[in-house]
Amino acid sequence: MKNEVFDILRKKRLSMPFFKKVIFFTAVLMLLTACSNSQPVPVEKQGFYMGTFISEKVYGENAEKAAGEVMDKMKQIESSMTINAPGGEVNNLNMQSGNQKVNLSEETLYVLGKAKHFSTLSEGAFNVTVGPLVKAWGIFTQNPRVPEKGEISRLLSLVDDKDLTINEQEHWAKLSKKGQVVDLGGIAKGYAGDAAINIYKKYNIKSAYINLGGNVVVLGSKPDGTPWKVGIQNPRAQNGVYMAVLSVKDKAVVSSGDYERYFEKDGIRYHHIIDPKTGYPADSDLIGTTIVADLSIDADALSTATFVLGLEKGMRLAQSIEGVEAVFITKDKKVYATKGLEENLKMDDESKEFEYVKKR
Ligand code: AMP
Ligand code: MG
Repeated sequence: MKNEVFDILRKKRLSMPFFKKVIFFTAVLMLLTACSNSQPVPVEKQGFYMGTFISEKVYGENAEKAAGEVMDKMKQIESSMTINAPGGEVNNLNMQSGNQKVNLSEETLYVLGKAKHFSTLSEGAFNVTVGPLVKAWGIFTQNPRVPEKGEISRLLSLVDDKDLTINEQEHWAKLSKKGQVVDLGGIAKGYAGDAAINIYKKYNIKSAYINLGGNVVVLGSKPDGTPWKVGIQNPRAQNGVYMAVLSVKDKAVVSSGDYERYFEKDGIRYHHIIDPKTGYPADSDLIGTTIVADLSIDADALSTATFVLGLEKGMRLAQSIEGVEAVFITKDKKVYATKGLEENLKMDDESKEFEYVKKR
């Protein structure tokens, strides 16, 4: 638009008298101002679901309707997948552990199926039956605690996703041992991000952004055609302080880290990602992972899994999956990224503490 206006200007300038020029330039100036003010305005909505702050920015004709429907969907996913309130599907599954099959919706079965898939791929680093341990540590409660060793080893015997049977044809699932608990905290927000994108698409939206407590999913590019910029949290700074920026279109960018939820006791940080092999918070060489993928459910499972696995194994896992890219931040504040992100990742680290080690 602006370029077209300048073209007319160039042609006319040759033949006009002075006063006409003044009027003409004023008109053009007004037109340019109008053009620059006519940036599309997004519909923005916020909500608090799945224990996290959710915000969306949606552009286009049906943005209001789409954004509203997305918030309704977030609420519905929360009520069916939470384990912190009675009545939901996953809660029912847990209540019936060691007892009977529970009928589940297609979407809950889909999320459980994905969870099992990524458990296999990560050799058990991602494991949704980690619930009894998550509860014992109480990281999400007012009174988090360090469980006794004996308690941890007893609870570890309940952590095995081979005990989770899923039957998609007959729409049910079952946990075989009493006391087993499925916890979708590491994957449900990822699913919710994909569900949001599907709603935007249904309304023919071409440009949208949703942030579910650090899980960012973008549809298309920004309205001006440039990529969305997604910040990567500095794991050792206040929430919202970034140390790098990713430029992406049509992607999910999901992070996990020891900074998201934790408590400290005797100078030790106990965070919310449990290593299903030890029963203790994962203690690899990583403090933060970010996965970029087409589906946010995949990115969510993989960010948690790679955090448990550590740099070497996490890098190998990310590289082994088509369309998946990753950024890993180590305890010694080095930043590693998969080759596919070379163009998209820019360090923007005010603290100057992090060193970007080019692709390995
Ligand atoms: P995220 O923030 O996506 O990395 O997920 C962490 C959440 O997933 C925790 O708050 C737990 O609810 C759950 N979780 C913890 N450890 C694991 C694990 N090893 N595999 C799957 N889910 C886990
Ligand atoms: Mg996750």
